[in-house]
Amino acid sequence: MDHAEFRRMGKEMVDYIADYMEGIETRPVFPSVKPGYLREMIPDSAPQDPESWENVQADIERVIMPGVTFWHSPHFHACFPTGNSYPALLGDMLSGAIGCVGFSWAASPACTELETVVLDWLGKMLQLPECFLSGTSGEGGGVIQGTASEATLVALLAARSKAVQKFKSDRPEMSDHDIMGKLVIYTSDQAHSSVERAAMLGAVRCRKLQTDEDLALRGAVLQAAVQEDRAQGLLPFFVVATLGTTPSCAFDSLQELGPVCREEVMWLHVDAAYAGSAFICPEYRPLLDGVEFADSFNFNPHKWMRVNFDCSAMWIRNRADIVDAFNLDPLYLKHDNQGLVTDYRHWQIPLGRRFRSLKLWFVLRMFGVKGLQEHIRKQVGLAKEFETLVRSDERFEVTAKVVLGLVCFRLKGSNDVNELLLKKINDGKKIYLVPSQMRGAYFLRFAVCAATTASQDVSYAWEIISQLAGDVLQGENS
Ligand code: PLP
Repeated sequence: MDHAEFRRMGKEMVDYIADYMEGIETRPVFPSVKPGYLREMIPDSAPQDPESWENVQADIERVIMPGVTFWHSPHFHACFPTGNSYPALLGDMLSGAIGCVGFSWAASPACTELETVVLDWLGKMLQLPECFLSGTSGEGGGVIQGTASEATLVALLAARSKAVQKFKSDRPEMSDHDIMGKLVIYTSDQAHSSVERAAMLGAVRCRKLQTDEDLALRGAVLQAAVQEDRAQGLLPFFVVATLGTTPSCAFDSLQELGPVCREEVMWLHVDAAYAGSAFICPEYRPLLDGVEFADSFNFNPHKWMRVNFDCSAMWIRNRADIVDAFNLDPLYLKHDNQGLVTDYRHWQIPLGRRFRSLKLWFVLRMFGVKGLQEHIRKQVGLAKEFETLVRSDERFEVTAKVVLGLVCFRLKGSNDVNELLLKKINDGKKIYLVPSQMRGAYFLRFAVCAATTASQDVSYAWEIISQLAGDVLQGENS
């Protein structure tokens, strides 16, 4: 493909994408394909001779689209949103074209420097304490990880390395191996599975602590667990608090957990994967109060801030904690400015990294803070509309406080009846929802996801749900 061909085909691709986005609501939100569908549709091995763009292009609709779950359809209400926007796509296009692998400052200075500055912008939008920003006298800074799971793992590994050093100097008689066997982390019974997984990968114990009636982890519960574990000879060192839990968007009490972490010398990591975007609105910023106690904080602009996957923003109070934990300097990676500049390879698990800050920069500039706040407020408003509809129907109950863009609800009655309702909803493929469970009660989650979701889509979803509820209840009574 030469430059002229790329111009032509690239423009066709842009047109295809714009058509796709414009008509996305006409596609069934969840695919009907069976596992293994795709292997039968394409040859067993790669072609020996080049194929034409026209052939490749034709296979997008034939092979790919039938197997796509349309996360950006206004009828998609599963999980949490995943971001998307034209400014982000433009940024990603450029990132692909520049195609640098920004593991060190020298590997592409713009890649490192834009990331550092844009994460300061974002940190200021969230009113993070100054110590987390790079361009201040603090020791902290921001980095873009691929996912919230990676951010938790990186924080855990950094905290583990710091803890091992500390416990070794406190108790010289203990070997690294002895210490490792006694390390323990804490999180709530509502935390995302990635926290437990990080503990598995980090080879440390994980205790999932019980939450209160609002599904929040409280300070006294953490304190009691730490005391109990210390009495058993264990070594508590790391806590993950969640702001906006996956099952129900509940908020742990940072203001209570923070002082316990300080007192007990435990690293506090805050996972606000979904909810974090909302903190750019002054009315939701109080939900972040207590972040001043955190050692690391993370949220996903790729969830709710119009940036397409992947872009997970992480800030560290003391960058040396992370850089020192993962620092190796082979000769082939050395450069003249080493030690004077940020080399992001020390802040993450892989060596290579994409120029992800470009898409974030484009989004922040082309929406502006006000545009992004408007997006959040609109989506919270739509969730409230849905909540009102649920509450107006006495067959249903709302099962958790609606704080942001997620409504948890169920038919009053058995888990079986709710499971059947969800099955009927999703079998119809007109809208798509996923369930969750809380203290034994199965419920449905309605998340406002696509940026184009409007009031009429909420009413449309509710019509389907309430009609199917009638069918399910009728079946039960007959
Ligand atoms: N933490 C929370 C609270 C989440 O809701 C999710 C996903 O929805 C994750 C972590 C995992 O996110 P990621 O896919 O970025 O690892």
